[in-house]
Amino acid sequence: MRDEKFIHDSKTVLKFIQIYCNNKHQNILKEENLLNLTYRKKELHVNLAYNLCSECKKIFLYSYQKLQACPHEEKPRCRKCAKPCYEKHEWVKVAKIMKYSGMKQGLIKLTKLFTAKTL
Ligand SMILES: [Zn+2]
Repeated sequence: MRDEKFIHDSKTVLKFIQIYCNNKHQNILKEENLLNLTYRKKELHVNLAYNLCSECKKIFLYSYQKLQACPHEEKPRCRKCAKPCYEKHEWVKVAKIMKYSGMKQGLIKLTKLFTAKTL
């Protein structure tokens, strides 16, 4: 996928996980972090700031790695991918977060985040 698409998807995943963590994990200690985006071993000069609990951070970094490794030029819907790269139990966690945050935002169609062809 193009760098812009990669940056956009990374930001969107983070946004959803951040909303989820803010709402669900209010009483869990969070840590501020900065992620310097790289794609195909190239620095993109984009920093993503996040403030997540350790569990959400793990999920975010997992999703980010999967996104980095996505081999598709035109990223298909993950649900429809012939070779889904998420492990099942991780996918369930991420899907739950996307759904929750999507509803929180009143933007249910965004729950198709992993899915939309062009974002
Ligand atoms: Zn959290």
